[in-house]
Amino acid sequence: MEKSLSGKKVLITGASSGIGQAMALLFAREGADLVLVARRAEELSKTRDQCCCLGVRVLDIPADITDAGQVRRMAEESLAAFETIDILVNNAGCGKYGPFLSISIEEWDRMWSVNVRGMVLVTQAVLPSMIKARKGHLLNISSIHGIHTSANASAYCATKFAVTGLTEALSKELWKHGIKVSVLCPGGVLTPFLGIPSEQKNQEFLEPEEVAQVALNIVTSPGKALVTRVMLTPKTRPFFVQEIP
Ligand code: NDP
Repeated sequence: MEKSLSGKKVLITGASSGIGQAMALLFAREGADLVLVARRAEELSKTRDQCCCLGVRVLDIPADITDAGQVRRMAEESLAAFETIDILVNNAGCGKYGPFLSISIEEWDRMWSVNVRGMVLVTQAVLPSMIKARKGHLLNISSIHGIHTSANASAYCATKFAVTGLTEALSKELWKHGIKVSVLCPGGVLTPFLGIPSEQKNQEFLEPEEVAQVALNIVTSPGKALVTRVMLTPKTRPFFVQEIP
């Protein structure tokens, strides 16, 4: 049987851990060739090896997405190997929670740098090839904190609202090039990001595999909508989709 991503080339940032790793494995199972990006080479190579076992081509490129030179090199290597990127998943991110006054300006800078600047750099490096091909799908991982705010999350909310806004504005610009744009906004997911001790894990949290499955549904959807906003929380399971025509 034909797999849902056979023949597709997918670039995933933040593939060394958590949601990005789960997406890499699921997309490989669905036949996608992959470019995997993150800073930690050893962790990234573990994801690569697991995906390679599934019979797809996998390129792992250690890179810091906040570094313009490293992002440029990563995009050049990806396009040299695969010629095109059909789907870009901007997933790499970081966050720190706490009262507003407890978050240092260095921590603000780090979150902005990874969550917003990094996403912009990677998108600017990959998008020209999609525009040239007149097709592609850009999937940005925001957060429930990119739609709703809560106390002790001001810095993270600010960056994730920026991601949601960036994505939705881009969709208005890119539809004419035939490029789909989606934003996925998960609630709490059990990954190293949250650092939840195993004894505190419960149904209030999502598993990274659930987020990966929704990401797969988004990128394989035949829908005509050019922007899809998907909110995923344990309460909205399976998930809530808002298509903005
Ligand atoms: P993890 O901490 O498990 O994974 C984060 C990934 O981002 C890692 O692969 C890390 O790799 C990568 N990364 C971080 N900084 C950089 C950088 N400068 N350059 C390249 N890669 C980088 O977290 P999650 O899987 O949970 O998070 C994935 C995304 O999901 C993030 O955008 C997060 O904001 C979002 N999200 C998470 C939720 C949660 O509750 N877990 C809820 C909602 C959204 P490395 O360290 O090797 O560079």
